[in-house]
Amino acid sequence: MTAEILDGKQIAAEIRADVARDVQQFVADGGPKPSLAAILIGEDPASQVYVRNKNRACENAGLDGRTHRLPAETTQQELLQLIDTLNRDGSVHGILVQLPLPEHGNGGKGFDERAVLDAVDPLKDVDAFSPVNVGLLMQGRPRFLPCTPHGIVQLLHRRGISVAGKHVVVVGRSDIVGKPMAMMLAQRDGSCGREVANATVTLAHSRTADLGQVCRMADCLIAAVGVPEMIKADMIKPGAVVIDVGINRVGEKLVGDVAFDEAKEVAGAITPVPGGVGPLTIAMLLHNTLLAAKLQTKA
Ligand code: NAP
Repeated sequence: MTAEILDGKQIAAEIRADVARDVQQFVADGGPKPSLAAILIGEDPASQVYVRNKNRACENAGLDGRTHRLPAETTQQELLQLIDTLNRDGSVHGILVQLPLPEHGNGGKGFDERAVLDAVDPLKDVDAFSPVNVGLLMQGRPRFLPCTPHGIVQLLHRRGISVAGKHVVVVGRSDIVGKPMAMMLAQRDGSCGREVANATVTLAHSRTADLGQVCRMADCLIAAVGVPEMIKADMIKPGAVVIDVGINRVGEKLVGDVAFDEAKEVAGAITPVPGGVGPLTIAMLLHNTLLAAKLQTKA
């Protein structure tokens, strides 16, 4: 069997076109141009590229993308001050602090990342990192959904893949991907209806015993680990849907957490790396920025 390749670039383009159309309507109805302020500290090349891509995507969707570039020697206090200023600025609807923060920032002491993320106004928290937004998701009444797992829900929905009543195994329990992913697919009502929800979910991690056997139970296997190609073909149930969140640089190449070439011979459908989940994350960030503008305009 050769798996259907789930083309994240194509789906992201569909979502970006939907957002662009909705932004146009929102502005035509008298709303402000939604704006996203990214804070970028230091010179990390991957972060620079990421923020540049975000700004370009904003522009193409009719949103205003701004970047506040701060030197690596910025202090925690200065960073918190900038966040406070942006929280109060009515022309800024979404705030994004680009991670990772420089390890030796804040005068060599390192930043208190939790305190930085907590400082963002929950109504402008387009990454959905704030405890308020995490709590709302947990209670099944989300405001902002975290971009990467929400992108995966959109991908499944837009390709007609139901997980209701199925067994989903999520490998990796990060606050950004694994944990919210598991929670979103276990809910009764999902952001795309009840078919991309209502799953029986297993959340696996580095202490999971016999990971291979756990993964083989999955009708839908989602890998968010950060270990290159650790999910092998013999860990996949024949016909399963495999979603690879991993982005790992191996030499010059980007590879996922799934050994794609062998996995695609067993899976029913699979996302490639690159071109799978990655493009969906930025598309959902645009979606959240428009949502933030709508929430703040209504308030
Ligand atoms: P993370 O915070 O490093 O978490 C990794 C998780 O994987 C942890 O829960 C860890 O378990 C688990 N793990 C590590 N080794 C394992 C093993 N051998 N067996 C089973 N579980 C293992 O990672 P993350 O931020 O979620 O990112 C995961 C990957 O996704 C990375 O490659 C990252 O670059 C990528 N990513 C992609 C996007 C995108 O837009 N496509 C967005 C975010 C992240 P413990 O909790 O027990 O340590």
